[in-house]
Amino acid sequence: MMAVCLKVVRVLSPFLFVWFVGGSDSIMKYFPVPDYHMHTPRCNHAVGDVRAYAQAAIKCGLTEIGMSDHSPMPNGFDAAWRMGLAELPSYLQEIERIRDEMEADLTVRVGLEADFHPGTEAAVQTMMDAYAWDYVIGSVHFIDDWGFDNPDEIHRWDAMNVEDAYVAYFDLVARSAATGMFDIIGHPDLIKKFGQRAPVGSQRVDQAESEMLDAVKEAGMALEISSAGLRKPVKEIYPHERIVAKAAKRQIPFAFGSDAHAPEEVGYAMEACLDMLCRYGVQEIASFEKRQRIMKPIRALA
Ligand SMILES: [Zn+2]
Ligand SMILES: [Zn+2]
Repeated sequence: MMAVCLKVVRVLSPFLFVWFVGGSDSIMKYFPVPDYHMHTPRCNHAVGDVRAYAQAAIKCGLTEIGMSDHSPMPNGFDAAWRMGLAELPSYLQEIERIRDEMEADLTVRVGLEADFHPGTEAAVQTMMDAYAWDYVIGSVHFIDDWGFDNPDEIHRWDAMNVEDAYVAYFDLVARSAATGMFDIIGHPDLIKKFGQRAPVGSQRVDQAESEMLDAVKEAGMALEISSAGLRKPVKEIYPHERIVAKAAKRQIPFAFGSDAHAPEEVGYAMEACLDMLCRYGVQEIASFEKRQRIMKPIRALA
């Protein structure tokens, strides 16, 4: 995994950051925005404690992050890839401790990435009601019993009609929005992770995307713009530029997430994500405190 955000040095003024990217330096055109998607080892597929993520964020020049590890789910759902309910108190305590310790240098939000999987809503809602989260990301990682983004289940793509899989995925995301349970839609076209593509110009997929975005708009949620796809076989930001354009037209707010599973991924490719938003006239980014959304300007540096 290549660390992109290695080091930030302030030069000339506190408003100009020099980012060293993979050895060649470039100038970051924006003030850093909050990175709201990062994990801890409790999910069994991430490394680094909360302090390490916070220190990495400070090193990158970020001023706000949020932890959002994979939430406990009922009935053993996808248990190998997430924290158990018994780990939730230590997750909260660790974030709160680092939040208080680093208060002067970094705002640390307490979040969660919950799965939307039909039939689990009541249990997830109960867990969400038990703590004053700053935000909850709602993500779809499963179509029925198929963990379509799980490398162990990639072979199941062979038996799938790709267009059907895309439509089923966007339908589930639309349903997740319609529950009104979540604040942010996580990686909104994760279905493309391994590079399977719906037929170009598919009317069905276009319609499913639009209906998903209408549901997000109706629910008053934010859409995540995630740099994680750049690190996956698809090598693209989530969501696709076409979806960013449609969302911008509907004035759906965006929140940024690197989906860091290691401290060196914090802030990953933030500039590329902000560039994409700016191409579609998006001028603000979402931040959250106690589940209230506060929009902040994406300020391009002169
Ligand atoms: Zn994960
Ligand atoms: Zn996810």
